[in-house]
Amino acid sequence: MTGRHRYSPSVRRLSCDLLVAGGGVVGLWTAYLAAGAGMRVILCDAGCIGAGASGGFLGALMCHMPERWNAKKQFQLDALVSLEERICDLEAETGLSTGYGRVGRILPLNSAEQRALAETRKTDAARNWRVAGRTFDWQIVELGSLANWPGTRAVAHGAVVETLSGRVDPRALLAALGAGAIARGVTLIEERGLKSVDGEVGLLSDGAEVHAGAIALTAGIATPALLQSIMAVPETLGRPVKGQAALLAADLPAGRPLVFRDGVYVVPHANGTVAVGSTSENAFADPCSTDGQLDTIIDQAGRLCPELAGACVIERWAALRPRAVLPDPMIGRIPGRARTIVATGGFKITLGIAHEMARAVLLILDGDEDAGLPETFRLQTHLARAGLKQT
Ligand SMILES: Cc1cc2nc3c(=O)[nH]c(=O)nc-3n(C[C@H](O)[C@H](O)[C@H](O)COP(=O)(O)OP(=O)(O)OC[C@H]3O[C@@H](n4cnc5c(N)ncnc54)[C@H](O)[C@@H]3O)c2cc1C
Repeated sequence: MTGRHRYSPSVRRLSCDLLVAGGGVVGLWTAYLAAGAGMRVILCDAGCIGAGASGGFLGALMCHMPERWNAKKQFQLDALVSLEERICDLEAETGLSTGYGRVGRILPLNSAEQRALAETRKTDAARNWRVAGRTFDWQIVELGSLANWPGTRAVAHGAVVETLSGRVDPRALLAALGAGAIARGVTLIEERGLKSVDGEVGLLSDGAEVHAGAIALTAGIATPALLQSIMAVPETLGRPVKGQAALLAADLPAGRPLVFRDGVYVVPHANGTVAVGSTSENAFADPCSTDGQLDTIIDQAGRLCPELAGACVIERWAALRPRAVLPDPMIGRIPGRARTIVATGGFKITLGIAHEMARAVLLILDGDEDAGLPETFRLQTHLARAGLKQT
């Protein structure tokens, strides 16, 4: 997207209502929605738009399990439902497709025990998967009713077919959000990250100053370090978790559901490609390399869905997911800073909730401290969990 912004590097002083630091899916939704609400917005990124974890291709929009219902699961359910309308508006506004589709998901059952658990979850889904007059199915189907997707050997004990999950093409979503943001007047600055924050002035890596009415820190794994420039935060506040995924040329008919078993995601996209993933690595030498762990996932996906066996690998990709001290998003006003907000930590479900994380940022800026966030999503909760004593 470099070259499409309206920023000259010779400008040393800029001003705006909102400076968004980080052009992943959270930062782009924030900039896009803020500009739609009439704010003058600058979004800066240390690299390019989508340089972080958002710039991949897996794109699963998978819901939490329907039992033990809580505020976090409700937030995600509401977000998965509202995303449909947000994406519709975005696609209409930009004329760009995001590859979004609520295609559902198949969960092969490995044993009689899993099947019994799935039966109880059916009741939970009927009770909890309801929003805005809509309900979503959780059905158990028998071997033979799935037309070899996934393969018959994978569904010896049957499978769950649910209709809530979906998929989006993350790169297409970023492109649409970037185009939509620019059309709404957002200034995109790439290759110049936020270096530090002094009051409501953001200092960019090239020395330029951005005088902002408010600042949103949406820099993914780099957010805790940015926060350090403002206040002393415990190192445990956030940590990156590496993931690897592969894109396969499978040329499947459109509309196939996702398949998920034992941590392996198979995500058929609108253009006929199929993404498979992901590893979850807390220790790694190189954040961007792929290795034998990804080969294992490709093999597992081929065994799960034999139509994929031997499919040509178009791309192998790895990146670092932002995980906060709690495995939940971390959103909130920085203590002592009325106009600086953090929004990160979406971890493995960000693509389905980023628009609601962005909405929460704008509500907080508007004075709604609660912003409909579950307790475990609040910055204060994360800071306390990380051991920060607050006065
Ligand atoms: C292999 C893999 C598969 C995944 N699959 C899924 C999935 O199927 N579904 C799902 O929902 N999620 C998935 N995720 C997780 C999801 O991609 C991430 O949680 C999400 O993209 C995080 O978005 P973000 O905007 O918070 O951060 P990022 O996308 O990481 O964006 C942060 C941005 O900030 C920029 N930046 C860094 N430092 C600065 C600075 N100082 N100033 C300004 N900008 C800065 C970076 O360049 C980057 O562009 C996956 C992740 C991986 C790695």
